[in-house]
Amino acid sequence: MDYRNNILKDIENAEKIYIAGHINPDGDAVGSVLALALYFVRLGKKPCVLLENIPERFKFFYGTQLWYNGDYDDIAPDIFFAVDCGDKKRLGKAGEIFDRSKMTYCIDHHATNTGFADIDIINAKASSASEIVYELLKENGFDAEKDIEIAADIYAGIVFDTGGFRHNCTGRRTHEIAGALVEGGVDTSTIHSRVLFEHTLPQAKLFGAALNNMKHKDGVSYTSLTTKEIEGCGCTSEDLDGIVDFLLNLDVSDCAVLVTQRSENTAKASVRSKQFPIADIIVALGGGGHKLAAGVTCEGSADAVADMIVKKIIEGKNNG
Ligand code: AMP
Ligand code: MN
Ligand code: MN
Repeated sequence: MDYRNNILKDIENAEKIYIAGHINPDGDAVGSVLALALYFVRLGKKPCVLLENIPERFKFFYGTQLWYNGDYDDIAPDIFFAVDCGDKKRLGKAGEIFDRSKMTYCIDHHATNTGFADIDIINAKASSASEIVYELLKENGFDAEKDIEIAADIYAGIVFDTGGFRHNCTGRRTHEIAGALVEGGVDTSTIHSRVLFEHTLPQAKLFGAALNNMKHKDGVSYTSLTTKEIEGCGCTSEDLDGIVDFLLNLDVSDCAVLVTQRSENTAKASVRSKQFPIADIIVALGGGGHKLAAGVTCEGSADAVADMIVKKIIEGKNNG
């Protein structure tokens, strides 16, 4: 992939620079957005970061002070960067600001992304948006490994999206970039622990509830959680990391589904697969993601949404 671009030229005269990640931001969204924002700071700019929230466990990332948590109404950027967003709808409320921007960029790695900005830099082969940000900076003559803050954010984003260099999105280049960042001095063990392994006591309880509700059918392990169950454990929808991956890692699983109630009549599904491509099924339901990891929000109870998705996956596996 050729990462040549005119970012330097495009931001040269821009004052109002906004950088947004997807709703329900994960480690890659936070890492890539903050790394790009810090790069613009190094260039003497004053970028604003738009994220729905910064989950507690990612507050140790560098550049969180650039997060803008004010009113969105009067913002009209000179340039807007949508990062780690597979489609415009995933920008959430920041989508309004996107529409008011003079110029827009989309920097992403989702296979389901068809491009929605003036300039689309999309590489579905990249492990993460953070990896693409590394390449973009390099292309513009900036070595992220020489800036410990930017290096750590990029490394953390890559670690999150690759599940610690395990998922099939991890390529040779991912390791090369990680190697350069390690050489630059990033604290790898702390980042791995905090991004992937540290859990709170309430999260452990929720894990228990999820496993308690687990069902298994034709190679699909699935579970659902109501708002009452999530809140009853002292958790929120930010506390779900690791559950669906645990289900997938069971020896009996080809696929795994976690569905959590998000409002009275909506539920969010996280779907994972070892081999069978699940993206098409999830895109048809209005969601998106990658071949082996995708998500969608549907109408209905968590239980009903889980049953519906599991049925479609089993049908797909049997026909495939
Ligand atoms: P999740 O299950 O939320 O961890 O998401 C798995 C993958 O699918 C990630 O790459 C997400 O960015 C993507 N994804 C999750 N939910 C949606 C959605 N509603 N629309 C598009 N992509 C999604
Ligand atoms: Mn993401
Ligand atoms: Mn990502």
